[in-house]
Amino acid sequence: MAGDPDTNPRPWETDELFQALIATIVDGIVVIDPEGTVRVYNAACTRLFGYPPEEVIGRNVRMLMPEPYRAEHDGYLSRHRDTGEHRIIGSGREVAGRRKDGSTFPMFLTIGEGRLRLRQFFVGIIRDLSDIKNQTAARQSSDRLLAQIVHSSDDAIISKTLDGMITSWNISAERIFGYSATEVIGRNIAMLFPPELLGEEEKSTARLRAGQEIIPYETVRRHKDGRDLTVLLSVAPIRDGAGRVIGASKTARDITQRKQAEIRTHKLQSELAHVARLSAMGQMSAAIAHELNQPLTAVTNYVKAAHRMLGADQLTERQIASARDAMEKAASQTLRAGNIIRSLREFVEKRDSEKTGEDINAVVQEAATLALVGSASSGIDIILDLSPELSPVMMDKIQIQQVVINLIRNSVEAMAVVSTRQIIITTAQDGPAGVSIVIRDTGPGLAPEIQQKLFQPFVTTKQQGMGIGLMICQSIIEAHGGSIRSVPDDLGGAAFQILLPARAIGDETGTQTEP
Ligand code: ADP
Repeated sequence: MAGDPDTNPRPWETDELFQALIATIVDGIVVIDPEGTVRVYNAACTRLFGYPPEEVIGRNVRMLMPEPYRAEHDGYLSRHRDTGEHRIIGSGREVAGRRKDGSTFPMFLTIGEGRLRLRQFFVGIIRDLSDIKNQTAARQSSDRLLAQIVHSSDDAIISKTLDGMITSWNISAERIFGYSATEVIGRNIAMLFPPELLGEEEKSTARLRAGQEIIPYETVRRHKDGRDLTVLLSVAPIRDGAGRVIGASKTARDITQRKQAEIRTHKLQSELAHVARLSAMGQMSAAIAHELNQPLTAVTNYVKAAHRMLGADQLTERQIASARDAMEKAASQTLRAGNIIRSLREFVEKRDSEKTGEDINAVVQEAATLALVGSASSGIDIILDLSPELSPVMMDKIQIQQVVINLIRNSVEAMAVVSTRQIIITTAQDGPAGVSIVIRDTGPGLAPEIQQKLFQPFVTTKQQGMGIGLMICQSIIEAHGGSIRSVPDDLGGAAFQILLPARAIGDETGTQTEP
């Protein structure tokens, strides 16, 4: 008899212990007699099958089985009784269970055989496999999906160990690099590198080992036929079950053609800019001739004066000093003319576009001087409000000058119809990685009908205008990774703002990110 645990000194030997155990066990436990009648059915079984114990105990265990087990079960039991032959006893197997609502579920069943006071019994232990099965199915389907994605990706997807051994290679890798999977798997990934870039692999592996992220970057890899390919590379770590980095998955997008198209576009853009400079110079030629004439006339006058002074029979100290002074002035005027010619020559020269780190203020100053060549008499007041501490900007100096000159000349032209003629150019730092140039004027402002299409080609309000100046300015600024737009102007005229990416102050490495 079960006793009160408080009064029973040996509670572990009681029927009560048996009941408690049976109720606590997580797996389902069913005990049947040799005829198949259920004698024990625990709480876990109620959860698994949906039947309460009173609907199962005393009935045939068949009720917990779907067909065909249900029909065959009595046969198993009688064969076992008659021949001692058993198929499942002592071992386990996966079978199906049937719930009260008729649905079935996969379960792992182990059966043991025992005797109690000479009465034979069988105990079945049931573990529900639904969750494991569902998880496995979900994993298999996500594995299949992943495999399909890898297979159908346009990018080369390659995995490798930390030592660089290639472990997987998709179809696109085959197409991009020219090697089949069998040619590369097991070999070192160095085979895809141009020799001078091998250091990249070491750096990237070191970053992976240190758990550092690698920002996708552009680089060069080598095709089987020896061609160099420009690729956009993403690298992600592969970890083992314990989270340790054991390799890397690399995704390479072939951007060779895009790169070549970019180079062609840059070349066209810089040729267009050059043609525009030539055309601007053509328009300015009369003014330039006039501008050059001034120092040359001055030189002539100084030289003549000096000649006259030195022509006297007896030279006084004073005459010698005056002649020297005239010669010095002549020299400085020659330099002035030389400087104008040098800037002009630089401005119209055809060169490959190349970017160097420049001080934007110096570029703006030189542009303003050039833009105002010949317009000294038109009463234009140009005010430079230049911030002293600007980050250097990577630029094609001549092209940026061209933009500033273009904007100043537009302002000069627009201000022909007003009496107060002022241009204010302001430079300022725009956040740590940008520099801003604003050019404002006191002209009549932008005509409303063209405000929305300022940067489109052939948009002009001028009789002789081509309407491509602002379009070329935009193409130059965008080729520098910047932007140009018209902004409200507190002077009442037009105002344009140029934003250019800059290196942060003190940052010598620039904004490039490589592993
Ligand atoms: P274009 O000077 O040949 O007309 P742009 O593309 O340089 O070509 O300029 C397009 C138009 O934008 C000009 O015709 C003019 O109407 C307007 N515009 C540009 N700058 C100014 C300015 N500072 N003030 C007023 N209008 C301007």
